[in-house]
Amino acid sequence: MTNANPFLELGPCPIWCSDDHTGQEHPDDQKHTLDLSPIPTVIRNGPGLRRDGYPARAADLSLVAFQRLEDREIWVSLVSDEEGITVSFESAVRIHTELTRLLDTITKSAYPHRQ
Ligand SMILES: [Zn+2]
Repeated sequence: MTNANPFLELGPCPIWCSDDHTGQEHPDDQKHTLDLSPIPTVIRNGPGLRRDGYPARAADLSLVAFQRLEDREIWVSLVSDEEGITVSFESAVRIHTELTRLLDTITKSAYPHRQ
């Protein structure tokens, strides 16, 4: 999105930015952002690999990329209302690669005739 905010120190928006920058006059508030639609998920509570009694629950996760005024790095966050994780863009690419490999491996073994 094009930024018409004269107080913006960020410079022109990168092509991926969907933020309108309204109300971002203070440098602490300034960031380029790409915020996708919430993803409906089921989350298992507690530490990931434990066996004992953590109920699952529904939660919408938000997938957001941002670059603040002071950042050279683009950050990627996966967050719910209660928790989240933020990693560098390069880390997100590595996670994407490995997650795709993991899901492909499971899909091929669970559905060997589907390809
Ligand atoms: Zn922007």
